[in-house]
Order: sequence, then C-alpha cells, then structure tokens
Amino acid sequence: MGGRKQLLKYLSLDQKGKVLAEYVWIDAVGGVRSKTKTLFKPVTSVNELPEWNFDGSSTGQAPGDDSDVYIRPVAIFPDPFRQGDNILVLCETWGPDGTPNKFNFRHEAAKLMEAHAAQQFWFGIEQEYTLLDADGWPYGWPKGGFPGPQGPYYCGVGTGKVYCRDIVEAHYKACMYAGVLISGINAEVMPAQWEYQVGPCEGIEMGDHLWMSRFLLHRVAEEFGARISFSPKPVPGDWNGAGLHTNVSTAGTRAEGGMKHILAAMAKLEARHNEHIAVYGEGNEERLTGRHETGSIDKFSYGVADRGGSIRIPRQCAKEDKGYFEDRRPASNADPYQVTGIIVETLCGGA
Ligand code: ADP
Ligand code: MN
Ligand code: MN
Ligand code: MN
Ligand code: MN
Repeated sequence: MGGRKQLLKYLSLDQKGKVLAEYVWIDAVGGVRSKTKTLFKPVTSVNELPEWNFDGSSTGQAPGDDSDVYIRPVAIFPDPFRQGDNILVLCETWGPDGTPNKFNFRHEAAKLMEAHAAQQFWFGIEQEYTLLDADGWPYGWPKGGFPGPQGPYYCGVGTGKVYCRDIVEAHYKACMYAGVLISGINAEVMPAQWEYQVGPCEGIEMGDHLWMSRFLLHRVAEEFGARISFSPKPVPGDWNGAGLHTNVSTAGTRAEGGMKHILAAMAKLEARHNEHIAVYGEGNEERLTGRHETGSIDKFSYGVADRGGSIRIPRQCAKEDKGYFEDRRPASNADPYQVTGIIVETLCGGA
C-alpha cells in the first residue's frame, strides 16, 4: 500500500491538453462497466464524442463469435475523480446490426419519454443500498453476528448508530461535482443501509442521473474497500429490505386540482400491477411482504400517507389537491429506465 501517497504526484501531472473520457455502460446483471479513451481536446457536448465498442463476450452481453457491442454516448458529466476537463460518458449499448443490445433499456424508455414529453413527467427516485465489507457482511456488523434490533439506526447520529458516513459523504460530493441532481441523503432503518435521492428530473434524465449516481457510488466505495449491494433483501429476517421509491408527477398533477389526475393514475396502475412488478427488480418478492413498510407483492393498494401500500400519496398533496405520488414497489436493484418507462406507458399509452 506504500504506493498510495506517491499516486498523488502522478495524478497532478499535466495532461498536455488531452482529455480522459471514462465511457460507462450498464452490463448484463445491472452492474456498471467502464473504460477510458483519450480525447485530443475538451468537449462540451455529447455529439462531439465518438461511438466506441467493447468485448461483449466478457460481460455476458454478446456471444464470443460475434462479440462487438457498440457504446453510443448519451450524456456527459464532469469527472470528480480525474477533475479538470476530464469527463464521464454515459452510453447506450448497441449491436452490430443496428439494434439495441438486450440490456439496453434506455432506448425504449427514451422513445416513451419523447412521445409523451408534453405531459412533462418529473421523477424523483430514492435509492436505498447496503454497504458490505470485503467478506460480504454488512459493514460494521459484528463478524458472524448481528447488531441490536432496528430502532436507533434510521437517520442515526453517533458511534454504533451509523456506519460508513465517510463513503456516503464522499459520494454526495462526487455527485454534486458531476452535476448529478442528488437532492438528499439519510441513514436507513437497517444499520449499514443508506438512501440518497435524485431528482426531480424530467423524462429520460431520471434514468441517466440515477445510473451515473450508481457508477459514482461503486467507484467511491472501491476506494474505501467497501462493496455496494443493491439487493432488495440483503439480510433475511427482521431487517428492512431496500427499495427504489419512485416519485412521479406531471404538468396535470402539479396544477391546481391535480389530485383528480393522481386518482386517475391509481386506476391505471392498478390494472397493470403485474406488468409493473415484472420489471420492478429481481428478488422483490423477498421484500414486498406487506411488512417492514411495504405493500404485498400480490395486491395493488394506495393511500394517503400510507407506507404499507403500493403507492403513497403524500399528506401534503391530498391537502393541497395537487402534487405527486410515490410508487413504493420498485426494488433497489430495479432499472430506472424500465421503471420510469412503464409508468409513462401505463399512464399515457405506448410510444
Ligand atoms: P420519503 O418521505 O418517501 O422518504 P424523500 O424525501 O426521501 O421522501 O424523497 C422524496 C422524493 O420526491 C425526492 O426524490 C424528490 O426529488 C421527489 N419529488 C418531490 N417533488 C416531486 C414532484 N413534484 N414530482 C416528482 N418527484 C418529486
Ligand atoms: Mn484489448
Ligand atoms: Mn426517502
Ligand atoms: Mn428510505
Ligand atoms: Mn419514500
């Protein structure tokens, strides 16, 4: 580890006008991958960036005999790690035949957002996650044992009540530097579990910003030797699961008398409950038990200020007769492109 201090000297070396672009894409299991390209000058728009490719047979995204997967830049962010003119480049994945890769969920979502842009969909996502140590046990928990029961940890302050605040703070700042619209953080009910919120973002930007925030989280935690788990139920038993609450509004729900649009949305969402659950994350049945502040996976329900339903309408919205609703069903590992995409499809119809 003696090299750590020396690294600083190299990181501050002059790049001689060149720029490092970290191309980031989503892999076959909802993880992120990235690799770096040297650019000859700074860029200000995603349109200035070349398409690139990677070996899809090494990521489970293509067969070995036809392994090229193309990565097309869709959004750029200032790079908080390399700083300066260096950038992070979020990409879509495409096949050599010009069709989207099987794991490219952004393409369909972007079409839906485009088709229904007039509704001005805003989303705000609450990303819950768990920090694990190198052995895969929740960070700070006694080895092979358990901390005391839930109660003191949610929004906790003080030794033994929260773990890994350093990683959480570093991630918060990294998101801000990158221009990711992070809007808050809190320690969660299960120790070593945290939440951050991103949004409100309009349309496809929600998925873009959430995916970049996930990349930043993995990347920051890597420097601290911690692992990030997006498992919806990281520890079985009397420990809260992890969700991806998705808050939704449209020009209609935000306007005076918008509650009637929220109630109309409830009927549409109820009719397609199973289709939504199908894309709301793997292993979500472990989490949506109707306990630990969740609704049951089998049955759609909604209510004002109800944290035990599929959808919660905030008390404030009911009072003001306008605002947004919270879809509490998505699991922490769900793909935000799929989640926001199906919500738009259900409320407005296809692209
Ligand atoms: P909770 O009480 O469920 O824990 P949070 O404060 O964690 O709520 O998250 C609320 C989320 O709602 C934030 O991500 C915020 O961006 C989002 N939000 C607020 N207003 C709107 C709106 N009008 N449309 C969509 N999302 C919104
Ligand atoms: Mn090579
Ligand atoms: Mn929250
Ligand atoms: Mn939460
Ligand atoms: Mn919530």
